[in-house]
Amino acid sequence: MQPDYDLLIIGGGMVGASLVHALRRLPLRVAVVEASAPGAAHPSFDARGIALAQGSKRIFDGLGLWQALDTEGATAITNIHVSDRGRFGSARLSARDEGVEALGYVAEANVLGRVLEKALAEAENATVLRPAHLTALEIGNEVVSARIDHDGAARSLTARLIVAADGGRSAVRALLGEKALRLGYGQTAVIAYVTTDRPHGGWAYERFTDTGPLALLPCNGARGTEESAAGDHRWSVVYSVRDEQVEEMLALSDEQFLARLQERFGHRAGRFLTTSPRQAYPLVLNFLRDHVRPRAVFIGNAAHAIHPVGGQGFNLGLRDVAALAEVLADAVQRGEDVGAGAVLERYARWRRADYLRALAFTDGLARLFSSRFPPLALVRDLGLLGMDLLPAAKHLFAAQAMGLLGKQPRLARGLGI
Ligand SMILES: Cc1cc2nc3c(=O)[nH]c(=O)nc-3n(C[C@H](O)[C@H](O)[C@H](O)COP(=O)(O)OP(=O)(O)OC[C@H]3O[C@@H](n4cnc5c(N)ncnc54)[C@H](O)[C@@H]3O)c2cc1C
Repeated sequence: MQPDYDLLIIGGGMVGASLVHALRRLPLRVAVVEASAPGAAHPSFDARGIALAQGSKRIFDGLGLWQALDTEGATAITNIHVSDRGRFGSARLSARDEGVEALGYVAEANVLGRVLEKALAEAENATVLRPAHLTALEIGNEVVSARIDHDGAARSLTARLIVAADGGRSAVRALLGEKALRLGYGQTAVIAYVTTDRPHGGWAYERFTDTGPLALLPCNGARGTEESAAGDHRWSVVYSVRDEQVEEMLALSDEQFLARLQERFGHRAGRFLTTSPRQAYPLVLNFLRDHVRPRAVFIGNAAHAIHPVGGQGFNLGLRDVAALAEVLADAVQRGEDVGAGAVLERYARWRRADYLRALAFTDGLARLFSSRFPPLALVRDLGLLGMDLLPAAKHLFAAQAMGLLGKQPRLARGLGI
């Protein structure tokens, strides 16, 4: 049976739209089912600042999208300072020591959105169905059959492979009865943009506190917007608090919030002057043990939603995209069925180690550094100190933060897919 499409991608957010763009030159017929309407508020492209690792910059370069992101507004991170609030442990990473022009970049999620929405609309081999959502799914031996609700009308589609890129509350996962490991951190991230009386100079800060990590990322804002007037005095803040503290944090006046931030962070970045409205994101770990099953693959948050400490989540999802696009391109070249078990197994084998490293990195940091148990606090401070003094340990930590550990996809090596 000849299916309607080769690939059916559920979710056209950060990860799904990047995949569509990566596949645009392959002789594959792609359908994308995205819940949000064109031009409407998009859940993936909101007000967050997203740290893009050096490895992600290379992938976006390979996708031909970096220039647009840079022009729209991406701020280079040249140094990172990691510290333990109220204790002696601290460490520094620098782009110069790692031999790169930047450890990473910060782009607002809505800037990513503008670039990726354009890429999604321009992919000639993709039919984008939106607003639409998946309502039923059946996996057969040779095809996947899906029912969707497309703008109020029911519709059936068939494809060789379904790609779940539909985020942490994946409908594909639910319809296939896949159970993800789900653990709450008891923490919520309160995010805002703030300005300071001093320029950021490309520094990013990760400060561990007893309520969770507090990150300050340099973020000049999208070019030509009102926000960008603050230039290099603007930061994206991710302030983790215990769940029970969120309501109080959101109810603070701007002045009270800035005073609280100053008290928690100190004066390393200067004096906090202004803040944007705050938003809250409950933090959970959502992890699927197997990322492929017959004729189905899970990528991005549908496969792994992790703690935002160290800004790893989307970077991990973009590496899924680059690896999957490469595996599918090779399958097409060899004349294989893109939904065949052997093809998907090649993808799963490639990605496994990266998932486990990102999980260990973020979960380990989030839990270890939230503990005030004195022996643990001592161990981690010695760890930070050791990392600062031992170049090999520092390079390893930096390579993980930059997304450069493990097998790099062709897209990140300037080789196309
Ligand atoms: C506070 C915070 C800060 C973060 N900071 C960083 C950072 O600095 N760096 C980083 O790399 N990552 C960061 N992350 C993680 C990052 O936001 C996620 O990894 C990323 O958004 C995942 O993208 P996604 O496309 O997989 O999922 P989503 O962004 O959730 O997109 C899912 C898409 O699927 C669509 N959809 C959902 N259900 C359906 C359905 N049934 N049918 C059709 N469409 C559907 C949605 O409309 C959406 O477009 C942060 C996360 C948080 C919470």
